[in-house]
Amino acid sequence: MLEDLKKTTWKLNLELPKNNLITMTSGNVSARDPQTNLVVIKPSGIAYEDLQPEDMIVVNMEGEIIEGTYKPSVDTKTHLYVYRNRPDVHGVVHTHSPYATSFAVIGREIPPVTTVVCDIFGGPVPVGPYARIGGNEIGKAIVEHIGDSTAILLQNHGVFTIGKTAKEAVKAAVVVEDVAKIIHLAQQKGDPIVIPAEEVQREHEFYQTAYGQ
Ligand SMILES: [Zn+2]
Repeated sequence: MLEDLKKTTWKLNLELPKNNLITMTSGNVSARDPQTNLVVIKPSGIAYEDLQPEDMIVVNMEGEIIEGTYKPSVDTKTHLYVYRNRPDVHGVVHTHSPYATSFAVIGREIPPVTTVVCDIFGGPVPVGPYARIGGNEIGKAIVEHIGDSTAILLQNHGVFTIGKTAKEAVKAAVVVEDVAKIIHLAQQKGDPIVIPAEEVQREHEFYQTAYGQ
């Protein structure tokens, strides 16, 4: 079932190691099928290089396995909480990408210091509280603190991104790490200049309507 979405989700999961966003088996991408509301997610603890499209797990909104031989990602409850509370979201990504997570460990948001932050996130990338793994706490923290952004840092943990599609969520995960790295490099030279809120808004609106084919 959902063969196309499984293949897409598998490919997008492989983007995480390709873009140096994860180490070993950490990180995960899921996608929600708009027709059936079923979610395709990566299995837990399988090496990325061994992962095949048919290894992807299909779960329903309650977390019951509909199809798949492996156990789903340990972060499945978090993904499902986000989907249940954000009907606009059809893709969720989680990483511990190091530059972005370095902001999370000091509890600091990522300020809009390049135009791409305005384009993709429409403001600073917020940081949510520390939340325990395993239940609904992480999902709750994401939904409560992400606002209109497509990315959020969770204190002492890492990065969660969302999108209208899983591809958009993966793009947000790549961009948030890239920007965090740029800020880190800039700080070796001086204080990064933050783009004023009004200009962030203008740039965001322009990009949302003008970018792409
Ligand atoms: Zn994590």
